[in-house]
Amino acid sequence: MAVALGSNLGGSAQIFRRAISKLRDLSVTPVRVSSFWKTAPVDCPPGSPDFLNAVCVITVQAGERPESLLLELQTLEKEFGRRPKKVLNEPRPLDLDIIAFGQERRSGERLTLPHPRAAQRRFVLGPLAELEPDWVLPGRRLTIAALLQRLRD
Ligand code: AMP
Repeated sequence: MAVALGSNLGGSAQIFRRAISKLRDLSVTPVRVSSFWKTAPVDCPPGSPDFLNAVCVITVQAGERPESLLLELQTLEKEFGRRPKKVLNEPRPLDLDIIAFGQERRSGERLTLPHPRAAQRRFVLGPLAELEPDWVLPGRRLTIAALLQRLRD
């Protein structure tokens, strides 16, 4: 499973380090962590600060479902100060998205898998390609590395 981290409010690197140690509690294998990427805001209100982005690859316990993982991630977001949003993509201390959960597919409002915008986002593909360049997300033909190359072209 791949979880994307984003932050553009507060001490983002410190928030990431603390959030990653919480992700360790959810994973039965050592958490693999990309580098932290500083990126310009995309689809955010004018004047939004730059983001820090990263991707973690985790292995949840047998029996854990994407829906239960999402609830756990949302609890973590709140723990790190996330408030209910008033404006789309407003600055936030911690955003956690499930990019992929094995071969699971979902298309609900509460949960879409793989994440619907992952394949268009350099700030997701770049960090993920450091860890799993050869992954092919469910429903896709191209690898992560190829999707990233397509964005560069
Ligand atoms: P955001 O503002 O990016 O944190 O969006 C959060 C909303 O997206 C929540 O209401 C989630 O239920 C929904 N959502 C849909 N698919 C996903 C996903 N793959 N990972 C995380 N949140 C998702």
